[in-house]
Amino acid sequence: RRALFWFRRDLRLEDNCALYHCLKENDQVIPIFIFDQEILSGLPKQDKRVEFIWYCVQNIKKQLNEQGSDLVVNYGTALDVVELAKRFNVNAVYCNEDYEPSSINRDDNIKSALGQLKIAFYSYKDTVIFAKKEILTQQDEPYHVYTHYKNAWRKRLESADYLSYPSLKLLGNFERLDPAPMRALDHFGFVEAGIADAKISKATRHAEFLFEQFKAHKILLYKNDREFPSLNGTSFLSVHLRFGTISIRKIVRDVVRLSQALTGDQKESCEVWLNELIWRDFYFQILFNYPHVVTLPFKKQYIDFPWGDNPAGFEAWCNGQTGYPLVDAAMMQLNTLGFMHNRLRMVTASFLIKLMLIDYRLGERYFALKLLDFDLSANNGGWQWSASTGCDAQPFFRIFNPMTQSQKFDPMGIFIKKYLPVFADVPAKFLHAPWQYQAELLHYGIELGRDYPLPIVDYVHARKHALAVFEHFMMVK
Ligand code: FAD
Repeated sequence: RRALFWFRRDLRLEDNCALYHCLKENDQVIPIFIFDQEILSGLPKQDKRVEFIWYCVQNIKKQLNEQGSDLVVNYGTALDVVELAKRFNVNAVYCNEDYEPSSINRDDNIKSALGQLKIAFYSYKDTVIFAKKEILTQQDEPYHVYTHYKNAWRKRLESADYLSYPSLKLLGNFERLDPAPMRALDHFGFVEAGIADAKISKATRHAEFLFEQFKAHKILLYKNDREFPSLNGTSFLSVHLRFGTISIRKIVRDVVRLSQALTGDQKESCEVWLNELIWRDFYFQILFNYPHVVTLPFKKQYIDFPWGDNPAGFEAWCNGQTGYPLVDAAMMQLNTLGFMHNRLRMVTASFLIKLMLIDYRLGERYFALKLLDFDLSANNGGWQWSASTGCDAQPFFRIFNPMTQSQKFDPMGIFIKKYLPVFADVPAKFLHAPWQYQAELLHYGIELGRDYPLPIVDYVHARKHALAVFEHFMMVK
């Protein structure tokens, strides 16, 4: 039996569910990857994600070449998989499931096109621990409240849910293929964007390395350290989870085992991290069960919320020019690294939505463009949480105070100084609300309005205004 294996958001050979089934059930497997020009044509020519994918694909190709096989790399559209299946005369196409509505639609079309050729299409769960409708309420409804979902997720979890699929043991079933050269990035119009600057290595096992380091040191302190952007206390695994360069089952397996061996604060810390992974599954099932969230608020009563129109404010926010150092430093982190710390994602989102009343979808789109770990489910979930339009969202009256957040989570201004070097020599106490210390800042050669922006909104006024707009909206609804 002969089959195609189609790599998508699962760019690894080890512990890959669909790959395991494909190799086990077929004696000749042709692995393929498609650089989808329809997606690529909409991206900026310097895109860290494209570069990252390119390196991952190259790494898989090298590993397969060592096995006497090759990764067939196609440059076209997803539908080319049908042509490839015909060309290689296979019985079946295998891949892992993708839960974005447009991907589900694409896969349905491909499945039916293959079906007409009598070629089977098999897809497997690999991206998450529990998918689709696996975790439901007693009324057979998807959960809307994270805590209830988490409790049900944990209750349901058994070791079978995080078993490893030993795909590496079956590599001999890849068809022998002569290695074909892979096109350079610039061949399809992209230039290097510098993923090394984004702290993402080109090494094949970088994700495992990060995870080992995280388990050895950071996870035990995660409960506390995760809140402080300057401590780098989180795992930085999101990009790897996004592109499947590490298996979620391996992560959960190791963390569950580690947690079982720990007690007290260390155990709690481990559990807090596991809970973050459950948020990931939670938003995947929300996207799957409520696909309207892609374009509309989860809570439909917000459909006609009167978002303001503030192009200048939006531009200042994007460029880290709001005059609030923590917000600006966070946006600089996003713009330079393609990453932003979780707390700062919440702070910057709240600033845009609540203090400027700008439509959360604009911020969501900007993050989608910039984040290396951009995942529609988590990004949409995070933005709708911040906008109070999402399921289990922040109540509308909760508005992050950027000064208090700054004092609490970057008290020494270490993070701010890293991304806003203009403040390098300024004592931290002037950094949380610099407009209150204009005379003091002059001693450091900083004139607000010239060297660093004056605040684009007045927090107290903006907060009051936002509350009035939300309250009025809720009243007339
Ligand atoms: P860790 O703290 O080490 O967490 C471990 C893993 O758990 C993460 O890698 C991630 O896969 C998952 N996770 C953690 N928090 C969340 C969460 N709130 N929701 C879903 N999964 C979570 N995460 C993305 O992966 N992609 C996005 O596009 C994305 N956009 C976001 C937008 C907003 C407005 C907000 C508030 C959050 C967003 N998040 C997103 C969630 C979170 O900020 C990132 O997952 C996290 O900062 C990644 O860093 P880490 O890998 O070091 O996380």
